[in-house]
Amino acid sequence: MNVPDSVLVLRFSAVGDVVLTAPALEALRLAWPGTRIVVAVKERLAHLLRHNPNVDEVLELRRGEGPVSFARRLRQKRPGAVLDLHNKIRSKLLRWQMPGVRSVVWRKRDFRDTLPVKLALRPYRASMRFTDRYHAAVEELVGRPLPRGTLRYFLGPDDRELADGVLRAHRIDPGLPLVGISPGANWETKRWPAERFAALARRALAAGLQVAVQGSESEAPLGQLVAREAPGAADLTGKLDLPGLGGFISRCTAFVANDSGPMHMARALGVPTLAIFGSTDPAMFDFAGHAMLFAGVECAPCSFFGRSRCPRGHFRCMLDLSEERAWEALAPLLRAGRRLPLSA
Ligand code: SF4
Repeated sequence: MNVPDSVLVLRFSAVGDVVLTAPALEALRLAWPGTRIVVAVKERLAHLLRHNPNVDEVLELRRGEGPVSFARRLRQKRPGAVLDLHNKIRSKLLRWQMPGVRSVVWRKRDFRDTLPVKLALRPYRASMRFTDRYHAAVEELVGRPLPRGTLRYFLGPDDRELADGVLRAHRIDPGLPLVGISPGANWETKRWPAERFAALARRALAAGLQVAVQGSESEAPLGQLVAREAPGAADLTGKLDLPGLGGFISRCTAFVANDSGPMHMARALGVPTLAIFGSTDPAMFDFAGHAMLFAGVECAPCSFFGRSRCPRGHFRCMLDLSEERAWEALAPLLRAGRRLPLSA
């Protein structure tokens, strides 16, 4: 196709899915350096893209804004092409309101997996990495094979300072070795038990490291539990907004998290990361230079994005992962050092 003056990229949520667009945006920029890249995202997640040098404009979907109003604003940008990396009802409605504009749509998975995995009839096996699927959509749009971009997260200029203020208020020195712990996740079956995070925190504290627990306001009970069972660990749940979260993770010597947005942010920041997987498929992501724990029980992974409870009732995908195994995986990361230079 002719190289368009601008491309509109759609990816509205969630934290991890937006962070994972970075390599695709880099590939698009390298392929069409003169094209304006506009990304549409939910207002509350705009910070994830605002400092990315491969994004020229972030168009924020306001809270409560309907598809007709937002489509009007999108059309004003006069995109020459649409790259739909969201591919849900919202992005479909928007594309329908831009007739005549060429669209390329990302596919999250093979459609033959949808029904049997949703009904828990068989485990899910991702046939491609998440970022490779995004990349394939960029190649389809550009019409030729492209070099892959790098998973990077670009901090804002004040993000680290914001985080440092919160850390100091909780008696954590941002300049000293720090283990970040993130025991939350959107779905219950993606959560390694908080008691085991606490046991891991006790080991890190005993090794002379500082420990801070991160999470949303609704995850405060998890932070309280870890801080109670691992005296000395700072509970930062509910204390960091999105800019502060990136700043905090960037201060960590290593980061431990479930399959969640903060886990992807940590990898994208080059912070050595221990990722703990239960009911979802780690094959969707790249852990080179990081570590990943997956028990590999015969029923796992039983879902695409997690469940509210274990359909088998035993939850062995997570309960089979001991804190000893986690500590053995974490210890080398603490010695490894950062994988990427800091981006701000
Ligand atoms: S143990 Fe339960 S939640 Fe975990 S993968 Fe098996 S069925 Fe799913």
